[in-house]
Amino acid sequence: MTTRSTELLRVVHSRPGVTRADAARLLGVGTGAATELVTKLSKAELLAQAPAAPSGTRGRPTTVLLPHPGGPLVLAAAITHESWRIDVVELGGTTAASRTGRHAGSDWPAVRTAVAAAIQDLLRGYAHRPRAIGVSVPGTVRSLRLQAANAGWHDADLTELWPGAEVFVAGNDATLAAAAESHRGAAAQATVALHLRIDAGLGGAVVEHGRPVIGAHGAAGEFGHMPFGDPAVPCPCGAHGCWGSAVDGTALARHLGDPTPRDPVTYARRVIAVARTAVARTAVAHTAGTRDSITRAPGTANAEATSADRPDRSTRSRQDLAGLPPPDPTDALDAVRAAGTALGRGMAGLVNALDVDLITLGGLGADLLDTVPEQIHDAYRRGLMMIHRDTPPPVLRATLADEDGPVAGAAEEAWAALLPTLT
Ligand SMILES: [Zn+2]
Repeated sequence: MTTRSTELLRVVHSRPGVTRADAARLLGVGTGAATELVTKLSKAELLAQAPAAPSGTRGRPTTVLLPHPGGPLVLAAAITHESWRIDVVELGGTTAASRTGRHAGSDWPAVRTAVAAAIQDLLRGYAHRPRAIGVSVPGTVRSLRLQAANAGWHDADLTELWPGAEVFVAGNDATLAAAAESHRGAAAQATVALHLRIDAGLGGAVVEHGRPVIGAHGAAGEFGHMPFGDPAVPCPCGAHGCWGSAVDGTALARHLGDPTPRDPVTYARRVIAVARTAVARTAVAHTAGTRDSITRAPGTANAEATSADRPDRSTRSRQDLAGLPPPDPTDALDAVRAAGTALGRGMAGLVNALDVDLITLGGLGADLLDTVPEQIHDAYRRGLMMIHRDTPPPVLRATLADEDGPVAGAAEEAWAALLPTLT
């Protein structure tokens, strides 16, 4: 009975508004048993019923099953290098409320304090209906302790975000985004999908039959720390030549001679946006029948300054970055192309190793795919073994928005852990 109750809650969670009749079919139980289950779960304030629209077919009118208005909720928190967000999520996945904050560059205690305060505020606001929390973090999680070398957060105890939480789950942001993408996004039909997400560094997950492969200790998916990058470049993780440092904002900064940006994601977005103006210019030049290459033609935006006129970008301190003029569009495009090539090469290596049937790109990876698709695809195809060349696994933009994937995955994990405890 309890298992069936949990199964019914799972059905309503994945298809809120499902009719009682359809839920009975999905569970493989008769209408009488389904009615009994629904009555029980309604009394427990877990489900509510509403009249279904007339179907036009014969038979007893059915009802649709919805989350109970006073029922349990989960909190889904996504902490990035720059910001945090906490969603209050109903059964069925609807977000009832959201809180956000920014913390660029803060140490862990400051971030923890801000997030913990927001959680307590939401618990009061929702009369302690939230029963579980899922936390997405930009690092590796073992035993609910976080290592995020890129952010300078070491061995942080995540449970301090909500001491005494009944159900507490946490995971790497890219892994959670991958799980969400396979549940509700572009990889929903894939058997074995690879999701890669570029933020500050690169992470991802292989999702097999809907479940992310998380490894023996939950730390799998650190694809960004495979040595596909420049062996001369040190990574905050302690290794050299990490792939992530060849594709993210720090890679673009090195290419442009800028100091390491304190906020590599915002920096990368800015450079990619400038690179797009050069792409647009190429398209215009191509249309006009001129050479299909980027030239520093006089009179085009930002191209008048010679190198002698330009400020010496590399001597600026990190704090001064905001004051830097935007890079030359041609230089920006060169930098973005180099990152795209590094991304494509690594993807080929992963396809050769893992034999996935689809790749989704999230975060800055999706922006790179939009901006320099030729460089990514060329490097990807060149790196593929012959056996994959005829039908290379498609490379798709992730469907869930950057800011939604990790938090959606965190909510799903929290619900998955909470549901069996409710009945
Ligand atoms: Zn590394």
